[in-house]
Amino acid sequence: MFTSRQPQPFKPKEPTSPKTSIYPRSEHNISRTLISDHALKVLYRLRKENYQAYLVGGCVRDLLLGREPKDFDVVTDAHPEEIRAVFRNCRLIGRRFRLAHVHFGNEVVEVATFRALNNEDGEGDRQHSRDGRILRDNIYGTIEEDAWRRDFTVNALYYNIRDFSVVDFVGGMDDHKAGILRLIGEPEQRYREDPVRMLRAVRFAVKLGFTIHPTCAEPIHRLAPLLEGIPSARLYDEVIKLLLSGYSVQTFEELRHFNLFGRLFPETEHCLARQPEGYPLVFLAKVLERTDERIQQNKGVAPFFLFAALLWEPVRILANAKIKSGDNDVFAYQEAASEVLTRQVRSVAIPRAISLIMREVWALQPRLERTTGVRPYKLLGHPRFRAAYDFLVLRAETGEADQELAEWWTHFQSADEAQQRAMTREGGARTGTRKTRVRKRGPRKPKITHDT
Ligand code: ATP
Ligand code: MG
Repeated sequence: MFTSRQPQPFKPKEPTSPKTSIYPRSEHNISRTLISDHALKVLYRLRKENYQAYLVGGCVRDLLLGREPKDFDVVTDAHPEEIRAVFRNCRLIGRRFRLAHVHFGNEVVEVATFRALNNEDGEGDRQHSRDGRILRDNIYGTIEEDAWRRDFTVNALYYNIRDFSVVDFVGGMDDHKAGILRLIGEPEQRYREDPVRMLRAVRFAVKLGFTIHPTCAEPIHRLAPLLEGIPSARLYDEVIKLLLSGYSVQTFEELRHFNLFGRLFPETEHCLARQPEGYPLVFLAKVLERTDERIQQNKGVAPFFLFAALLWEPVRILANAKIKSGDNDVFAYQEAASEVLTRQVRSVAIPRAISLIMREVWALQPRLERTTGVRPYKLLGHPRFRAAYDFLVLRAETGEADQELAEWWTHFQSADEAQQRAMTREGGARTGTRKTRVRKRGPRKPKITHDT
């Protein structure tokens, strides 16, 4: 079904273009003190065995910005088996990209072999789907060829361990200095080859504070539907990177601006589009804001909470329709959750371990409305109580759920036995638990907008 011949992937006219520049150590700010000892060990060891060895990609880009990279990628002319022969602590992984992982306790240094652009250029195999997507990419080549097949110019800078210079084949250093995110080659073709690059453009632009070059921004609106051809498991990984980057508020805004969000979360986008200034947007903005704060404070973030929030509005609307037509509320939420999730995983494959917890958080929302008898005590002991309570508080803060109810639960958790008894008594009104009655708020104006 697939052929490696059609259509031809992007190929530069002059792989060794006059643009090639070498920036000696004195002309850039990458200091070895910012490079992990393990990555340095790998680089020096390959060098000692007479292989070429460079750092490349995100780590070089981040080092140039003076940021601490999250991981270090090494490239070399050694083939995977040769890399394995050099390092005892090494495993070969991957099918789409065959790579070596060199393990040092918790840290893994990824070592890849230079890859070529297409079949005529090197050894190995590359497969394309009919619409031009790269399915497998194991053709080995030279460092220049390796540079041209990367996505953005700023992601194609090489730090040479031999003389500590930075090698630039694609004008990445100039773009880096100017804060420009630019695809290597013809933008539309590069997006068609791998539509995930559209998501990467948004992710890097926001994370680095760079501007997507207009020629690379323009096709995104048009080509966003191509994301439909991407395996949903890969899109899940991308969504995690997009939303757990610490910049999720802006990322969300940009994804919507480029029509990409609706490709990832169609039902959510539908709800947001119906109420452009309404509380679904305010609620999501709030959840994302909290997520970013937690990441910036190095606190853990639970993906289930984020996904539960992202899909809350479609679930809520569907559950309410079911309740209206006579279903019991808890049952209605369970059914709505199943239906929404079944459709959602076609675009972004949320793993079952996560969707199970999302379902619990959603199903607890109507149960939290029951504040009399023994039920509140039972809920306190529920393993998802805390998450469900936090969820309710956010809903209440943004005007969709009852403020008094959220406050009742806040109070109930810290109340002594006698107070709890009084609070759960039949007719023990929620309002009786507070000194002042808080007026139920309407939706607040969202902090984020769509126009950029
Ligand atoms: P991050 O800081 O998020 O890790 P990164 O640039 O290192 O950013 P990775 O996904 O780790 O991103 O990829 C490493 C490098 O591999 C990139 O810098 C880029 O050169 C290349 N690359 C990754 N994905 C693609 C792609 N879809 N198309 C072309 N090149 C890619
Ligand atoms: Mg990386």
